[in-house]
Amino acid sequence: MAEVLVFVDHADGAVRKPTLELLTLARRLGDPVAVAVGAGAAATAGVLAEHGAVKVLTHEAAEYADYLVVPKVDALQAAVAAVSPVAVLVSSSAEGKEVAARLALRIGSGVITDAVDVEAGEQGPVATQSVFAAGFTTKSRVSKGVAVITVKPNSAAVEAAAAAGTVEELAVTFSEQATGTKVTARTPRESTGRPELTEAAVVVSGGRGVGGAESFAVIEALADSLGAAVGASRAAVDAGWYPHTAQVGQTGKSVSPQLYIASGVSGAIQHRAGMQTSKTIVAINKDAEAPIFDLVDYGVVGDLFDVVPQLTEEINTRKG
Ligand code: FAD
Repeated sequence: MAEVLVFVDHADGAVRKPTLELLTLARRLGDPVAVAVGAGAAATAGVLAEHGAVKVLTHEAAEYADYLVVPKVDALQAAVAAVSPVAVLVSSSAEGKEVAARLALRIGSGVITDAVDVEAGEQGPVATQSVFAAGFTTKSRVSKGVAVITVKPNSAAVEAAAAAGTVEELAVTFSEQATGTKVTARTPRESTGRPELTEAAVVVSGGRGVGGAESFAVIEALADSLGAAVGASRAAVDAGWYPHTAQVGQTGKSVSPQLYIASGVSGAIQHRAGMQTSKTIVAINKDAEAPIFDLVDYGVVGDLFDVVPQLTEEINTRKG
């Protein structure tokens, strides 16, 4: 059976959820072979095996933390040479997309980014993308070489599937460019205790209708009742009410959660571009004609300061 490489996103051995989603998709294409590098790489093997990895290629070296992405590209290139896969799946983070693009260039192949689905096709893996502000869905395949595909978080379910998960040490020779750009400092962002926006299963976002920085507490309270991440429209970010890291849209982050709740957001095309692939969309807006209502599954016409606190209270009551 064909083998499919899955590049593992992990923090000191703790595998991030998008990687488990990639394993679900990889199983549709062939036998998943995971590639885990950096500190804690070997510790990822157990959970990867529980989610279908037949093999886990690991390599631990200080270079992965000390330098930018090139050492990871070197490792993936070595894995491609060792395995001859039909596809390489990488999570669509900023780093993942850079790694994928560099890898495709190195191996003379093509890259498809921000896929929302991947399936086996007669002539090789086929990736589905949502394009033009999510107005169209396209299906593409890489016509030459190994298909390098980045997949948006939350595009597939996490499914348990026990496999051997045999751990093998990957032989990696770092290229000359690997140590070209050194990381001089890392400053962890202050933790909000909420999930990462692009990975969250639920996102609650606020727009200009929220009216001010303090009023975002209403959005945050709903988010916390659901264990959700908080997003914001560009209007809210430009007004200084919420940090740019929370901006959803064309010039912000692209999210694809199971549930997206937009409050006081009109639904401009640039905002839709970052959230339209969400599985279920709910909007709360006092203007019944707001364009956001064209794409929602559930819409509430009303003042968010009436609706959102009631919703939060109801959810908290039901949680007990
Ligand atoms: P508005 O359009 O002003 O809408 C506010 C909404 O809140 C209205 O529908 C109103 O009815 C409702 N409202 C007001 N008060 C209440 C209340 N009390 N209760 C309930 N509803 C209420 N935008 C993004 O979001 N992300 C991007 O990445 C992005 N990138 C852009 C890139 C470019 C090149 C350009 C030109 C624009 C970009 N924009 C982006 C901006 C985009 O065009 C819109 O201006 C922006 O999304 C509007 O934000 P909003 O919906 O919060 O504000």
